[in-house]
Amino acid sequence: MQLTDPVKTVKGVGEKSAQLLEKLNIVSVEDLIRHYPRNYDDFELPIKISEAAEGRIVTVEGAVSRVTSMPNRRKKVVTCYVSDPSGALKLVWFNQQYIVKLLKPGYRLIFRGTVKRDNAELAIYQPKNYLKNDYVKLLGSLQPIYDLTKGITSNFISKAVKQALSEISIDDPLPASFRKENDLPKLSDAIKTIHFPKNKQEALHARRRLVFEEFLDFMLALRKLKSKKEEAKNNYVITDFDACDDLIKGLPFKLTGAQVKTFTDIKRDMSSDRLMSRMVEGDVGSGKTVIAMLAVLSVVKAGYQAAVMVPTEVLAKQHYADFEEKLVRYGAKIELLVGSMTAAQKKKAYERIEKHEVDVVIGTHALIQDALNFDNLALAVIDEQHRFGVNQRKALKDKGLHPHILSMSATPIPRSLSLILYGDMDLSVINEMPAERLPIKNAVVDTGYRPTALNFIRKEVLNGHQAYIICPLVEESEDADGENVIDYTDNVRDFFATSAIKQGDGKLVNVEYLHGKMKPAEKNTIMERFAAGEIDVLISTTVIEVGVNVKNATVMMVENSERFGLAQLHQLRGRVGRGAAQSYCIFMKGCEGKDVDERLDILKNNNDGFKVAEEDLRLRGPGDLFGIRQSGELSWKLADIYADAPLLSLASEYANKLTNIS
Ligand code: ADP
Ligand code: MG
Repeated sequence: MQLTDPVKTVKGVGEKSAQLLEKLNIVSVEDLIRHYPRNYDDFELPIKISEAAEGRIVTVEGAVSRVTSMPNRRKKVVTCYVSDPSGALKLVWFNQQYIVKLLKPGYRLIFRGTVKRDNAELAIYQPKNYLKNDYVKLLGSLQPIYDLTKGITSNFISKAVKQALSEISIDDPLPASFRKENDLPKLSDAIKTIHFPKNKQEALHARRRLVFEEFLDFMLALRKLKSKKEEAKNNYVITDFDACDDLIKGLPFKLTGAQVKTFTDIKRDMSSDRLMSRMVEGDVGSGKTVIAMLAVLSVVKAGYQAAVMVPTEVLAKQHYADFEEKLVRYGAKIELLVGSMTAAQKKKAYERIEKHEVDVVIGTHALIQDALNFDNLALAVIDEQHRFGVNQRKALKDKGLHPHILSMSATPIPRSLSLILYGDMDLSVINEMPAERLPIKNAVVDTGYRPTALNFIRKEVLNGHQAYIICPLVEESEDADGENVIDYTDNVRDFFATSAIKQGDGKLVNVEYLHGKMKPAEKNTIMERFAAGEIDVLISTTVIEVGVNVKNATVMMVENSERFGLAQLHQLRGRVGRGAAQSYCIFMKGCEGKDVDERLDILKNNNDGFKVAEEDLRLRGPGDLFGIRQSGELSWKLADIYADAPLLSLASEYANKLTNIS
């Protein structure tokens, strides 16, 4: 068996499973064995029922009582209580009538599952049940938990992985001496162990190797991107910035000192005899867009073209509208290029761009299609650059003949890491917020506070403002718990309708939702309506995380905050506090725990992204197996740039060694 063979070559994986696995991006045998666990299930001794806390996975042991079985609106529901001397806990099953037979009152059983709030009491939904003897066998073992899709269980994946690993041989690209020197296990051992560790120590050691590998691949890709010295000659020398000065004068605000300094860096680059390759790092809301706009204008005025690549269509449209508004009076012709356009529309756009009937193109990945050619691309702007892979960045750059590169990122990275990650670029940091901004007021609350929070949101809406509410999930799902956008929207609509009656004001609140599974056109419509103020409260997944700018929004509430990385929460918070009005961020905890409080308190006490990242790292330290995935961050399957910084340095050095030899 080869790593590149299709996954259905693995014994036990049939045609149908292979199709399902494809949804998890598992196509080849290699994809399968590289589908690392998301976490491990750690079978511990049963705890006292009184110690079961919301949001935790717990095992409890006790006697069954008060069994009920009744149909509810949509589902058949079985409930019972399990009690030990410390207390009782409710258990709930949906559409699992057969469980009734097991639940003899007085019978002692072991139950395991996630504790959730069920109105005034705590409950476990769909708990697994065990006889004592069976549970004892599992005690102390680590069972892998995988990202799943409907029809595929963790058990299935773990069997398939075991099977594949038994038939395959994996070469190790690292010399044994280097591995030994740096305490890195063999690749084949690391892959096996990450799936089936005996204990946490073993898992950490395996992880170390796999993190190194991820960083090394990344560093080698970066090396390829790095422009060679002789290529770095500036073919597009720009010296006239009069139009830029005019644009700055016409802005409704004064640029901050940091913005002025950044633009000065850019002007110096573009007028020099070397090509610009600059990274602009600035916290969310620090005003990076206007900097990009100024650079673009200078290029257009000199008779060249510019491209601005952004990660989402929503953001592309927003930038397009923004650029149109400010640049058209300088004669700039602007084109939008996004995936949802029809083939015919795209073809027309390509023609206009190639004939230079268009000066500025703003778009998503659609910008790096082969069919697109420019007349004379002199500047490539990459907004939210950490959202793009190295190859996508290279593809945009290759659209022109060595254009100037301006990358922008809101990911707060300590300078030492920036030097490794962006070593080939010069760095400008916008470390100053516009003066008129009021600091965001933060609160960390539990779900008992939800009605108060919703009433607060309603009050803000009645005062003419708007709000976001973020949920981790799109729809109800069997494998994952947490709030989902669809049901949540229903509930919030009900809540506001009832409030209107209770408060006697009869005022309606317009609630809509947005999530990643919607069609781009639908998403755009919702976002446009929200930006236009037609929607008061937007319930959304993290699709709105990136760059969206609605100044009138003053409240951000995040459900199940414990599920998100701090950097990501900070990005979400950046969606409010973008105008002059006081803004608020409410972090709702879906579970209790000292660690949850400690993490969220970091956000509560710091509005500065660099501080948040620093504190987050201090708190987690090394030894965190999977951490919380920073979706969209410089993201790897396992590696975490903050916690794994020493491995990043090691990989960087090793990459240097490799590339110098070859
Ligand atoms: P980001 O750095 O997150 O991309 P944006 O460029 O979207 O931030 O800017 C956020 C908001 O702040 C925008 O509405 C923008 O017009 C405004 N803004 C930018 N610079 C300033 C400034 N110097 N003073 C006041 N508002 C500003
Ligand atoms: Mg931005």
